[in-house]
Formats: sequence, C-alpha cells, structure tokens
Amino acid sequence: MNHRFLKQLVWQVGISFVLMCCLTFGIYYQDLKGKKMSKYTEKNVMCAEHNGNEKKEIQQETPIHKIEKKEVLQKKLGNTYIAIKKNYAGILPISIRDCYEEHKVEIYFYHMTQETIQKKQITFVKKDKKQNGEKMGEQLELAYTKTAHEGLQLRLSITVPQIYAYELYEDQKYIYVNCRAPKEVYSHILVLDAGHGGKDSGSNACKGKWQEKDYNLDFEKRLAETLHLPDWKIYLTRTDDERVFLKQRVHLANEVGADLFLSLHCNSSDCDEGTGLEALVSYNENKEQAKRIAKSCLTALSQETGLSNRGIHGGESIYIIRNTTMPTVLLELGFLSDPGDVDYLSQEDNREKMVEVIGKNIREMLTE
Ligand SMILES: [Zn+2]
Repeated sequence: MNHRFLKQLVWQVGISFVLMCCLTFGIYYQDLKGKKMSKYTEKNVMCAEHNGNEKKEIQQETPIHKIEKKEVLQKKLGNTYIAIKKNYAGILPISIRDCYEEHKVEIYFYHMTQETIQKKQITFVKKDKKQNGEKMGEQLELAYTKTAHEGLQLRLSITVPQIYAYELYEDQKYIYVNCRAPKEVYSHILVLDAGHGGKDSGSNACKGKWQEKDYNLDFEKRLAETLHLPDWKIYLTRTDDERVFLKQRVHLANEVGADLFLSLHCNSSDCDEGTGLEALVSYNENKEQAKRIAKSCLTALSQETGLSNRGIHGGESIYIIRNTTMPTVLLELGFLSDPGDVDYLSQEDNREKMVEVIGKNIREMLTE
C-alpha cells in the first residue's frame, strides 16, 4: 500500500515538474521572441525614417548657373573647383549635399539614361594643380543606383581638404562645382553646439525620460530652423545622439570662421538648490561681444519664461570656450535637478518659445 502511494506521488511530482518547466520555457520563449521582434521592428522604423529624411534632403535641386563665355566662367570660378565632363545630352537635375562633418561633398545626378560619367571624367582643381579622378583613389567614390522616382541616379562622393560653400556652374561640356570659403559666400556663419551626446549623457533630469543631451539636441535643431535665413549658414556640431569630441566641435567653428559659437546645455546641482538660466562666455578678445549676446539672451529669456536669471560667468576653464577664436556663449537653459525647471522644459511649447527668444536676440545682435 505504502509502496503504491509512493509510486503515485513520484509520478505526480514528476509530471508537475515537467509541466512547470514547459510553462517557464514557454514564457521565456515568448519574452525572447517579443524582445527580438520589437528590436527588429524598431530598427526597420529607424531605417525607413532615415531613408525618408535623406531622400527629402537629396531631392532638393541645387540651382545651376549656365555660363557660356569662357572668360566670365574663369572669373566666377575660384582657384578650387571640381570639373565634371558631362558626357550626356540635355539638362539633368543635380543636387549637392554638404557633408561638412566628414569633410565630404556629395553630388547627385538624377534621371540619367546611361552610366556615362566615370572617374576619368572628373577633375579636382586646386590652385592650378589638376588631379584626375582616376588618381584620387578612395577620395572619390561613384555609385550608380536605380530608383523608382529619379531613374538612374549617380552619387559622386568627394573628400575635400577643407569645408567649403558650393556653387554650381555649367557650360556646354562641363558641370563645375565651385568650392569657396564659407566666409566669402555667407553674410553670417554660426556654429550651434548641442552639448554632450552618445555615451556622454550630461546631467540626468530628476524626472522624465530625457537626459541633458536630449534637451540640448532638441534646442539645437529648433534654433537651426529659427535661424535659417538667406545668406546665413548654420553648422551643427551634431545632428544625432552621437559622441562628438570637444576638439572636433572647436575645430569646426575655427575652420569655418564662425561669427558666433553657441553651445546649448542644461544645468544641474547636487544640493537641489539651483534653478534658472545662466551663461558662460569667452575670455578672448571677443569677450565684450560674447557678453552682450549672452546678456540680451538671458534678460529676454528670463522675462519670457519666468525662469530666474543667474547671470553671466567667465568660462575660462571650459575647453570649448578656451579654444574657440570667435565670440563664444554657453547657455545653461535651466536646472535638470530642479523639478520646476524640468516641468517647464519638458513642454514642447516652452522649448519652442525659448528658442524663438534666443533666435530673435541673436539675429538682432549680429545684424545691428
Ligand atoms: Zn552640459
């Protein structure tokens, strides 16, 4: 009797154990599957968005100036340009993408009928020195692709020795991509710097999903839109959640000869006391102009937002301030350690309002 009962008990425990294992594995598998699926879905969405943005940007045609007289063309072209022998009939839409962060320029030709442009048709001219595309190695890349809307499309990617402003000219035989110093082309040049990025998240907000790097990037992109004026060029130190070293940020601003380097940050304090706005400014020969810009931004921002104005401080210990050669202002747009400031900053309308105030003051200060 005891023996039979024991046998039954062993069976029951055994079956329960197997059932529990199946159940646990089932839940784990579902979880694993869910995680994998959500990861892939996220990736697909990101790629689609990225391609969408890229396409939109590329599709914007660059105006091309037709010049037939050789002497006029010689005057228009500076001492640095890219000549592309057309080798095709008719007029093609062309667009230029300035990949300044990589020291590259991309030239797109749409609606081609054949792959008629090859490396040997391309010449890079710099101070009367001509380099044929066939000898440019990895500096020159050609890629033909077929797309539904633009037909056969050519992307020429050329590594350039410095950052240029590009203009397009055309005569019967050639397309010319004129490479000029940004200072010669634009009336105002600004470098907007979204502080931190990638692994360097800056300060963590006391609540909400965003970290300092996210607020900074949002401010930077909004401000770039606000300051998108004819003859003004806005360079951004980052356009994504990526790590950009301080040296690169400074190098960009010094290379393009910016009129203003504006770095966007949010503050934090360990003792829960800090709240409001403040600015750090350059201590080079441009100190007075940097102070004027910082003062006008802080005063107007404080009036408009109700956030307190903590004033201007010297930023000599800050790398970007010490090493830039132009007026440099670092704005600290609220304390992420303060729940009140975070409440204010987390509302999109408020951030938009702040950016409009900053944009208006910068426009006025730089054009007075
Ligand atoms: Zn910061």
